[in-house]
Amino acid sequence: MRIWIVAALIAGLFPSLPLRGQSGSVRGKMEKPDVYDFGYPSTWKKKYRHSEATPRLILNPDFFCSQCAKEGRISYKSRDEMVDLLEVDKTYPNPLEGKTKEHFGEFRMLERPGNVVLRRFMKDMKLKDPVFIEDRFFRLFVDLGSFHSKMPPYARREFELSQLADIFPRVTSKTITITPHQRAHLYHFRAHRLLEEFQHLVGYDPKAPYMAYAPPFMGMRQKWEVYIFRKQKDASAFVEGFLGQKVNDGLCWHLLTERAMLTILHGQRRRDVDVNNTFTHRLCYNFITGYRGYAYDLPAWLALGYAHLMERRERTDFNTIIFGEGRIPRFRLPSKWKVGVKKAVLAKKAPPLQEFAAYEAVGRIPPQMHPQIWSLVSYLVQLDQKKMGRLINILKEKKKGESTRNLLRRALAASYGLTLAQVDEGWREWVKTTYPSI
Ligand SMILES: [Zn+2]
Repeated sequence: MRIWIVAALIAGLFPSLPLRGQSGSVRGKMEKPDVYDFGYPSTWKKKYRHSEATPRLILNPDFFCSQCAKEGRISYKSRDEMVDLLEVDKTYPNPLEGKTKEHFGEFRMLERPGNVVLRRFMKDMKLKDPVFIEDRFFRLFVDLGSFHSKMPPYARREFELSQLADIFPRVTSKTITITPHQRAHLYHFRAHRLLEEFQHLVGYDPKAPYMAYAPPFMGMRQKWEVYIFRKQKDASAFVEGFLGQKVNDGLCWHLLTERAMLTILHGQRRRDVDVNNTFTHRLCYNFITGYRGYAYDLPAWLALGYAHLMERRERTDFNTIIFGEGRIPRFRLPSKWKVGVKKAVLAKKAPPLQEFAAYEAVGRIPPQMHPQIWSLVSYLVQLDQKKMGRLINILKEKKKGESTRNLLRRALAASYGLTLAQVDEGWREWVKTTYPSI
């Protein structure tokens, strides 16, 4: 088993008391993934119309892209020309703090004027292929090199090439080289797929009563920001410069004042499938923690388990781990998680859910327990996706003075009709009967 760990720092996500911790990744073996259908279509329906006279020109862009602007793929030259498309007005049923209407999505990033951050990224940092994409929900900075579309094989590649062809008419299923510009759009498409799948799982409804007074970006006041650097040192310099944190591997971060979620990573010494795994893990971790506003921590096993579930749906041979505060602990993970989990259950070495269910700090779930919490979330999802959605929503409705343990008990009872002990027992039986021994 080959293990390598990249030291990193993951954000603490707490509105008043930021927690910090280390994060990294561990290689494993390919296993049959638990693939769940979260409602995302399997064929891409084209959404962009191209000019007949100039085929590269998109007539109905719903995004701004710095490189598309340069190449004449969109007719806009700057992000500010697209304000009507990119910014959002929200009307409240009754005045909120004296306002009946509020404007959201003004060009701010990292709680600074967007153009300041943009200049740093596009010019000062001297990155090789920086691309900035913004739409009505995300802001993405991507500086990655080109990659080979056929190696290693990736289950969704054909689908992704048809997505890219929607923007780049020359891309076909035979396209071998994905250029840096195309790769940036790939991550933009992926971000939306993960968002739609998360929203499908939780049954997100922007018109639901709980969203009436919530900010429009799924409960955040600002757009969801994603930064993907080619080099580790650029990611570190960027994070240190803007957030004052020393990191090696990127991080998840919640901006307290302007309420935005940040996902930052790098692609150094990593294949695109690996970058995609970490991207999936961190963005999905942010979705579940930031959904409906980030006011307190969810039970850590559930948020981390969901991030693992989504990452291991992509591939099982590269796992991103959020360690929590302090030094990275020494640990070993099984190269095949299902086999490892089954062994632990049979040897009675898997601690009961009741023991760690109410832990809020991610660092209280040690790395060697991550396969177990991944498996627990997978168990709950395969039992019933709708109930899982309900569970997450109730967990977002903590009552004043309610403890995390009581909140979780209430949420499990109202969604699955189960106690913590029943989930634990059911999960053990499921592992014993469905997981392979070798
Ligand atoms: Zn573009």
